[in-house]
Amino acid sequence: MPKIPFIDLNAQYISIKDEIDLAIAEVIAGGSFIGGKFVTDFEEKWAYYCGVDHCISCGNGTDAIEVVLRALEIGLGDEVIVPAVSWISTADAVSVVGAEPVFVDILEGEYTIDPSQISEAITSKTRAIIPVHLYGMPARMSEILKIAKENNLWVVEDCAQAHGAMIGNQKVGSFGVAGTFSFYPTKNLGAYGDAGGIVTNDEVLAEKCRRITNHGQLDKHDHKLLGRNSRMDTMQAAILSVKLKHLDDWVMKRNELAQLYISELKGIESISLPVFRDNFRHAFHLFVIRSKSRRDLIRILSENRIAFGIHYPKPLPLLEAYASKEPHKWSIPVTLELCEEIISLPIYSELSEVDISRICMVLKESQT
Ligand SMILES: *Cc1c(COP(=O)(O)O)cnc(C)c1O
Repeated sequence: MPKIPFIDLNAQYISIKDEIDLAIAEVIAGGSFIGGKFVTDFEEKWAYYCGVDHCISCGNGTDAIEVVLRALEIGLGDEVIVPAVSWISTADAVSVVGAEPVFVDILEGEYTIDPSQISEAITSKTRAIIPVHLYGMPARMSEILKIAKENNLWVVEDCAQAHGAMIGNQKVGSFGVAGTFSFYPTKNLGAYGDAGGIVTNDEVLAEKCRRITNHGQLDKHDHKLLGRNSRMDTMQAAILSVKLKHLDDWVMKRNELAQLYISELKGIESISLPVFRDNFRHAFHLFVIRSKSRRDLIRILSENRIAFGIHYPKPLPLLEAYASKEPHKWSIPVTLELCEEIISLPIYSELSEVDISRICMVLKESQT
C-alpha cells in the first residue's frame, strides 16, 4: 500500500504551479524583496477577506501575537488568559513580553477555551484573553466577548489554525480588538517560508503595530517608538495573494473531507468525532478524533503507512518551559484527559476520497 502523508504541499503546488511560478518570477524581475506593492496588495486583500479595515503583515504568527500585546502595552505584572491546549506560541508570546500566561481548561467537544472557566481565572492583574480557534473550530466568541466587556479586558484572537473559519457570516479575527494569523507553510493559507499577519478595525492600534514591526517607523528614519524587525517578505506576499484566490475552495474541500470521515467513522463506539455548532464554519485545519485506545490506533496507522499527528501531546502548562512554575496550580481536567486521547488524521484539500476510505477502513478494523 502506498504511504498516505499527513500533508502534501507539493500536490497543492502542482495544482497552481503556473500562477505561483509567474508571481515568483514577477517579484524577482521587480528587484524589490522587502515591502513594496506585493505586500500592500496582500495586506489589502487579507483585510478585505477577514472583513476588517486593517491588516499589518509581519514575520510569523508568533510575532503577530507578541506585537499586538506590545501595542496594547501588556507586559511585566500583567496576566493574560490562554487555553491550556494550543501550539506553544499562544503562551510564549505572552511570556516574551514579560506578562504571565494563565492557563484555562478547554471544552470537551469543541477543544476551544471554556468560557465558564474564564471568569474564575480573572484577577486584578488580568489584561487580556487570547482565545485560539483550535484546529479551525471557532472559539465561543459571543460568550468570551461578554466576559471581556464586563471585566474590561482585551480579546486577541489567535487565528493561526483558522483561516476562513466563521461564526454566522463573520470571519474569525474580526471579533476581538485584533486577530493574529500565521502563514506558516502547512497552515490553511501557507506561504513558502515564514509569514504572519495582524488584522484589526482599530486604526490607532493598527498604526502602532505597523511601527513595532518596522523599528518604530512608518517612513524612513521616523522612529517614533522602539520596535523591531518583523516583516513579511515580498516573495511570500506574492505567493499568498495567489493562494488566497483558492482559499475558500480549499476550506470547502476540507469540510467535505471531514464530513466523509465523520460519515464513515460515526458507528465506531470507541472513537469520538469533532463536534459542530450551529452557525459555526469549521476550517478543518486539523481533523482530530479521540479514543481511549489511542495506542492501538497509532499502531494500526503506522502498520498501514498512514501518517498521523498529535496536537498536542502535552498541555501548555506542563511543557518543560512552563512546568517549573507551579505545575499543579492549574485546574485543567478536560485538557489532561484529552492530551492522552487525541490523534490527528490526514486532511488537506488534495487528499482523495479513496484515501479517506482506506484510512477509515483501517481504523474500523482496529476497533472490531
Ligand atoms: C502555527 C501557530 C502559531 C504560530 O505561528 P508561526 O507562524 O509558526 O509563528 C500560533 N498559534 C497557533 C495556534 C498556531 O497553530
